Amino acid sequence: MTQIELRNLVKQYDAQDQVTLTGYKGEPALNRINLTINDGETLSVVGPSGCGKSTLLKVIAGLEYPNSGQVIYNGHDFTEIKPQDRGVGMVFQDYALYPTRKGRGNLSYFFEVHQRSEEEEQARIKATADLMGVDFDLLLGQIPDTLSGGQKQRVAIARCIVRDPNVFLMDEPIVNLDAKLRERTRIEIKKLLRQFGITTVYVTHDQQEAIFMGDRIAVMRKGNLEQVGTFDDLYYSPANLFVAQFIGTPPIAIVPAVIENGQIAIETTRWTLPSHITLPNGTVRVGIRPEGWRLDADDGISMAVRHIERIPTERAAFVIGTIAGAHTSIVAPVDYPARESVRVTPDWEQAIFFEDEGESALHTPGVPDLF
Ligand code: ADP
Repeated sequence: MTQIELRNLVKQYDAQDQVTLTGYKGEPALNRINLTINDGETLSVVGPSGCGKSTLLKVIAGLEYPNSGQVIYNGHDFTEIKPQDRGVGMVFQDYALYPTRKGRGNLSYFFEVHQRSEEEEQARIKATADLMGVDFDLLLGQIPDTLSGGQKQRVAIARCIVRDPNVFLMDEPIVNLDAKLRERTRIEIKKLLRQFGITTVYVTHDQQEAIFMGDRIAVMRKGNLEQVGTFDDLYYSPANLFVAQFIGTPPIAIVPAVIENGQIAIETTRWTLPSHITLPNGTVRVGIRPEGWRLDADDGISMAVRHIERIPTERAAFVIGTIAGAHTSIVAPVDYPARESVRVTPDWEQAIFFEDEGESALHTPGVPDLF
């Protein structure tokens, strides 16, 4: 049972040590982060490279100390507690297995170092092997060099589980695996986490993976926490333009528009907004997701079609083009005929309205009531 609370965390590395690639040298890696990770949940942390995800994980683990703010475990201030006293298990992208030890030796290391009994060691390894699945025993007899990337990662995860941690911290654990293996391993990890029911923070730069793994998702940018919520929260009620553009494939179209007395115009095409969408007159940006358009609508705006991407496995296609300068993808039937232009109308009920300057959302549809 572990709940973690991060209060007003700030972490600033020495500027001379910082990598400049990300373009915000001197900015804090964590800028006043407030976040609660609930007991038993998996929280995905996602955001572009350099946004502070790994730093967040390290501060939770105690591998880095914040400049200010607190890390609270179950109501107790753990900010200054050493990593080995926090009961955390970590899995990184580079498996960091002990190369000279076989799988079993990697799992038993912890018990040897902490001078725990042989019985406990055997019992925990057995329980872990059972949890890891049918063929895991085979991996226990091999040294890391003879294992594939996926197998190494399974041993690394098992080495973490065998210690019976209170918290699981994973930093891009499957990023080094090839696509097929990544798919399989992420299903396996998710299954384990569910069985395990342990509080987990899962860092990834990949939105699909974040959505798949997390009960909730925390989106970060430049040391800031932009939004935390379920996939539906982020998808239907994004806090701002960044979150709206980060979540969703193909991405949301962001189209400039003008509001005037309950009407909305994109370029010269004008529609009346539903009466419950009340926005002040002026320029806005409208976010419309691929499924948020009506194709071949009489009152539509014309879009020049660049190409049609057909996805037979999904029985769908995306009609791709440009509207008012904005890159736009629109869901269509898989056999939608090729043509040079289409007339399309946004479904205003699904649209997300953003400020013209600044990034805040002015109106979102909210999570639909599907059931
Ligand atoms: P992410 O995991 O999202 O890629 P990081 O947490 O690794 O981001 O990095 C956040 C910022 O902190 C980056 O600007 C990075 O250059 C900087 N940073 C990370 N680790 C160190 C370090 N040990 N020393 C100096 N700067 C660092």
